[in-house]
Amino acid sequence: MPASEYRIVASTRRKELKTRLWMAGVLGAIAYMVAPGWTPAVWYAAVLLTQLIDVIVFAPARASDDDWRPSPGFRIAAIASALITTLVYSASGAYMWLYGGEVGKLFAMMQFAGGLLHVCLHMHPRRDILLAAMLAHGGYLLGMPIYEAFAQARPVMAVAAVAGVLYLAHLAVAVRQSSETNRALREAERESREAAVRAEKASAAKSEFLAVISHEIRTPMNAVISAANLLRPTRLTRAQREHVRMLSEAGDILMGLLNDVLDFSKIEAGKMELESIVFDPREKLEALGRMWRPRAEAKGVALELEIAADLPTAVRGDALRLQQILFNLLSNAVKFTDQGTIRVEARWAEDMLSVVVRDSGCGIAADRLDHIFASFEQADAGTTRRYGGTGLGLAISQRLAQLMGGGLTVSSTPGQGSTFTLQARLSAAEPVEAETVMAPAVEVESLDGLRILAAEDHPVNQRILSLLLEPMGCRLTLASNGAEAAALAESAVFDVIVLDMQMPVMDGLDAARRIRAQTGPNAGAPIIALTANALDNHRQAWAEVDAFAFLTKPIDPQALAATLGAARGSARAAKSVWQAA
Ligand code: ADP
Repeated sequence: MPASEYRIVASTRRKELKTRLWMAGVLGAIAYMVAPGWTPAVWYAAVLLTQLIDVIVFAPARASDDDWRPSPGFRIAAIASALITTLVYSASGAYMWLYGGEVGKLFAMMQFAGGLLHVCLHMHPRRDILLAAMLAHGGYLLGMPIYEAFAQARPVMAVAAVAGVLYLAHLAVAVRQSSETNRALREAERESREAAVRAEKASAAKSEFLAVISHEIRTPMNAVISAANLLRPTRLTRAQREHVRMLSEAGDILMGLLNDVLDFSKIEAGKMELESIVFDPREKLEALGRMWRPRAEAKGVALELEIAADLPTAVRGDALRLQQILFNLLSNAVKFTDQGTIRVEARWAEDMLSVVVRDSGCGIAADRLDHIFASFEQADAGTTRRYGGTGLGLAISQRLAQLMGGGLTVSSTPGQGSTFTLQARLSAAEPVEAETVMAPAVEVESLDGLRILAAEDHPVNQRILSLLLEPMGCRLTLASNGAEAAALAESAVFDVIVLDMQMPVMDGLDAARRIRAQTGPNAGAPIIALTANALDNHRQAWAEVDAFAFLTKPIDPQALAATLGAARGSARAAKSVWQAA
């Protein structure tokens, strides 16, 4: 790469300019002391001038990028400048040689040798420039003794020239070796850069694969869970009810796993974005206590909750993600504790929420403590057999806590229990009712005769929609993609439009935009978004097309019925209601 070779030479020359000028001052002073006169001063001025020209000549190379191609003019100017600067620089040595007596000669030889060493070290990436500089210094090194041998008739001086040749030979070997070492280094550097890029690509491909697979599994999983939900209220024998319960539970566990894998791949890909809403942390903690206390007590373990009095009642942050972390910590505490107490303490200091979850469970061995936050790591191999889990929960929780400007740490004594400390930066806020509303508190109206247009590409999900809606008296028209739905909305009249997000041909968002742009009867119809992708940016995108509500899959029959009722009730609701499943 000529560009980088020139750049290295040019920037090293620039970097060492000060040292060269300073050294030239010392050399000039010594030359003056050894052989007083005007010459050293004139020489120093010449050094200044030639060094200045050199800085200007090499400027394009210093500012170059890798695509830069040196012009023939630049190449010649660079070689000429290197030759002239070195010729001028070493001229003080020639002066010393000629007028400084034996000491001057000795000093001059050392100066020429030093100059050669100097240029070899910093010009070796460009052979042509190096040769020009060596020619100047080497010319003096060999030329001065030879001149003296002939002109002053002192043949013994030829020995000094031979010493100079030997020195040059040593230098040549050293330069070759250092060039090879440098080339090997550059090669290794290039290879490691390429390896890093390959590793990054592989990791991105893995995350992408995980995201796609978990999404693909979620769709049929939604169908399984929805089917179980549909079965539950029907007439069942005791054994059948038990089977449905197993189906539901297994479905929920699988869904949790899939969500973990999705979260993890999002974090890995740097795509995890946190929401910022106003919520009551106290209420979240108490709800968590209500949820886990019965499960702990069923195992004979007490669950104590202590919330500091100064914990604000309204803070701004990502409530769902905070709950996810706390849920994980409590789920682990309950899972790994068979006796004693689980204690949750929440404190508040300078916009930092600290929650300590302390249990009297089995604890974690010291050598495993560092590993439990790594992905897919469990404290010991028997954990999965005994307790299940993937070892993703803590990895996700810790990264989420870090994204929240805090962290998650652990201390543990095997046999005595573990203490997890969560810290999350949240800002105290004014309580805002609207922002904390998550579910619409709307009267469910009768759905009898409700005309619904639903776009859903998956046949199983289509079937579930009709199984859910038709018994409620809804008149359901199904479209298998967004384009079909938009075409249907042109002519027939519908009370509500339900759109899946990801569909072939045209996705739900595009369909919504197309329907909103129509002049037909449904341009203002309430649109309910239905999706397996509960991402925050999706909510935003749906809000932009003025969707009435946002429901996540698996479809919760009650939530769907309530939302449809609310949609009918408000016809074109003045205010959108957002629901998180
Ligand atoms: P998992 O889904 O396996 O629970 P986690 O990432 O939540 O994954 O936990 C990783 C491992 O850390 C667990 O398998 C367990 O071995 C250990 N661990 C987590 N919490 C506790 C606890 N409170 N007591 C003992 N061990 C725990």
